[in-house]
Amino acid sequence: MTKAKHIPKRTCAGCNQKREKKDLIRVVRMYTKEGSRAALIDLKGKMQGRGVYVCRKHECLKRLRKGKRIERKLRVPYNNTVYDQIKEEILKHE
Ligand SMILES: [Zn+2]
Repeated sequence: MTKAKHIPKRTCAGCNQKREKKDLIRVVRMYTKEGSRAALIDLKGKMQGRGVYVCRKHECLKRLRKGKRIERKLRVPYNNTVYDQIKEEILKHE
């Protein structure tokens, strides 16, 4: 029996591999009260807006941070906090 169920896949911004959404951490662009852009980790994957995905791997996170890929892809100012949040998420699932 073949399953025709569609599995959503997204590309990790660290390693550029396609993975199932559930295996990735999503980061979205949001606006602060002051109207400036910021990147925010979206744990439930339900937030609206432009997003970046990353595997739950330290290696991918390192590449993201080094290349400032969240900032480049979402066009937000550099913010260390979001990278630390991703790191926490990775550690939780180890
Ligand atoms: Zn990756």
